[in-house]
Amino acid sequence: MTFYVTTPIYYANSLPHLGHLYTMIVADTIARSKRQKGIETYFLTGTDEHGINIERAAQKAGRTPKEQADYVVSYYKKMTAAFGLDTAHGGYDIFMRTTEPFHYQGVSELWRRCAKAKTPKGNEAIYKGHYEGWFCAACAEYKTEDEYRKPATEGAPPTCLIHDTELDRISEDSYFFRLSDYGEALLAIYENQPDFVRPDSRRNEVMSFVRGGLQDLAISRLKTSVSWGVPVPDDPDHTMYVWFDALINYITAIGFGNEERQKAVGFEKFWPALHLVGKDILRFHAVYWPAFLLAGGVQLPKAIVAHGMWLDPNGRKMSKTLGNTIELDVLEKHFPVDAIRYFCLREMVFGQDGRFGYEGLIDRTNSDLANGLGNLSSRTLKMISLYCDGRIPTRHISEDKILLAKRSGVDTDETTVSGFIELAREQYLQQFESLNFSRALEVAWSVVARIDGIISDAKPWNLAKDDEQKQTLAAVLYRSAEALRWLSVLLFPVMPQACQEIWTQLGLSGSPGSIEPGQLTWGQLEEAKAIGEVRPIFPRIDKNKIMSEINNETEPSAARATVADAVEGAPGKTETQAPPPTQHATEADAVGVTSFIEIGDFAKVDLRVGQVLSAERIPKADKLLLLKIDVGEEQPRQVLAGIAEYYEPEKLIDRKVVVVANLKPRKLRGYESQGMVVAASIGEEGRPVIATFTEEVPNGARLK
Ligand SMILES: [Zn+2]
Repeated sequence: MTFYVTTPIYYANSLPHLGHLYTMIVADTIARSKRQKGIETYFLTGTDEHGINIERAAQKAGRTPKEQADYVVSYYKKMTAAFGLDTAHGGYDIFMRTTEPFHYQGVSELWRRCAKAKTPKGNEAIYKGHYEGWFCAACAEYKTEDEYRKPATEGAPPTCLIHDTELDRISEDSYFFRLSDYGEALLAIYENQPDFVRPDSRRNEVMSFVRGGLQDLAISRLKTSVSWGVPVPDDPDHTMYVWFDALINYITAIGFGNEERQKAVGFEKFWPALHLVGKDILRFHAVYWPAFLLAGGVQLPKAIVAHGMWLDPNGRKMSKTLGNTIELDVLEKHFPVDAIRYFCLREMVFGQDGRFGYEGLIDRTNSDLANGLGNLSSRTLKMISLYCDGRIPTRHISEDKILLAKRSGVDTDETTVSGFIELAREQYLQQFESLNFSRALEVAWSVVARIDGIISDAKPWNLAKDDEQKQTLAAVLYRSAEALRWLSVLLFPVMPQACQEIWTQLGLSGSPGSIEPGQLTWGQLEEAKAIGEVRPIFPRIDKNKIMSEINNETEPSAARATVADAVEGAPGKTETQAPPPTQHATEADAVGVTSFIEIGDFAKVDLRVGQVLSAERIPKADKLLLLKIDVGEEQPRQVLAGIAEYYEPEKLIDRKVVVVANLKPRKLRGYESQGMVVAASIGEEGRPVIATFTEEVPNGARLK
């Protein structure tokens, strides 16, 4: 028996964030649980490295597209190592890259098969035509009329609803995939295999999308427009559409179309896969991908499971502009990996959006891990050290001591607790199998609570004072230790390090990761064996201390700025009352337009091309926006601009601007402004209009 699980391969035009980490944690957890059951498992993650967006990003950074991809991949590799998700830590089996030569080979093979295939309606699956329409490079997606915003001024291109950037007009010969012929075949699959797309809400979405009618899909670009990609077999003037090549990675990685990979991994051995995806890319995986496979005569994936998105604690979408993102380096620095894994799986109910905040993470870690599982483990083991000479105590209470034990309030029938934990195991595994991790963990914590209760009721510290109750004491501690053994096996896929630690402290050898949870039998914890060294598993996190460290480290977010302002706004501080900086022509006005300057005077002003990376409002400063601008330096500049009344911060992202780069830094509302954005000043009210470029210009270029 084998199992194959995949995360999406991530587009190598940006660095990893929480969303990427989350899907990897889920896939890693599933992979570990399968391996634990002795199932040979293959776990794929990786990067999607082709397309115009990467070509452009590379150009901007002065790199080749491959160098650009390498750069992003190096971040992914560092991230996966730091969070214990790489091969060295027992995580993924392959970090798939679509620039691998074997991938090119496999993709070409599937293309050729599709090119020869007939659709269910008897037409050619791939045909050559002419594409006329709009394309968002950032989405790597063709946009139909209801998927873009019409331009404000006539003649300008429409903008992407997601990215707000201008779309590319495409009018060129292109190969098409005859998706329109696959609607009925796809609907039949969704009907016959209700588990093919999960959860149900997503399956319904996909079905109504398909019922609405499918359009043929352009699956190539002229090489003269996009050269960074897999060439179309037998027609090198065309480059494959990036999604066509990217989706196929799931089969090329395990050997489709390449003998060496086939020998090393094995396509027939592992396919079909369980695909984990974010709901934003469900259409590609649940509609396009199965259609490509149907055309190519390849078995469909086992299932496509779409998870929700992480929102901030107030239920808002996370974004750089709102300053409410969760930073991976902050997580890495302040939190144990297992606490992050636990939180991710506990907080997001399967299929729904979840909420993620640092404070919530600290609270959960303290309540469920430090006070819950960690405390149960350390109090049990400490008492075994103290009362039982550091050896696993005897579980049975002899006939002559039963009455005494009963008098102390201890249930002398061990099957009460073993029955409870056996039932919990069944429920836990069932929920886990359905990927209802949150519910599964609730079940596991009912065991923690039950055992905690048994200890509190029995009061071992009192029993220890009575020689006659030695057996009662031993039985109570045995039950607790045995429950911990079970928990460390059950929870291993979720928290591998912590469970290994509990396992070792119980004096057990090997790993709970190789024990089949279904095979656990009550009472197999060997009596009289010495326990290991007792150490805290989850130290309590000092919330105030860690939160203040986090707040000092991260960029000022809206919420934190309010606090900062409140402190700074103390009476007598006039700085907060200062008018917003006039970022437009008013300063020039003061100089006087009639007096001439020498060219050398102008040369003193260092004007640079910049690109807005983030923009956010500053609380209680109605006119100010806080911008992060890339002016081609190592670090972006922080610039305050008095344009908040006229510009939505979100709309400024990615925009090219002109920055006065050698303006003396000044502090406003507690923020340093390291430059100035140039804008025209219009009308009496001085409405600012930001200067920009109509042609491609690299960041940092000097204006002369
Ligand atoms: Zn877009």
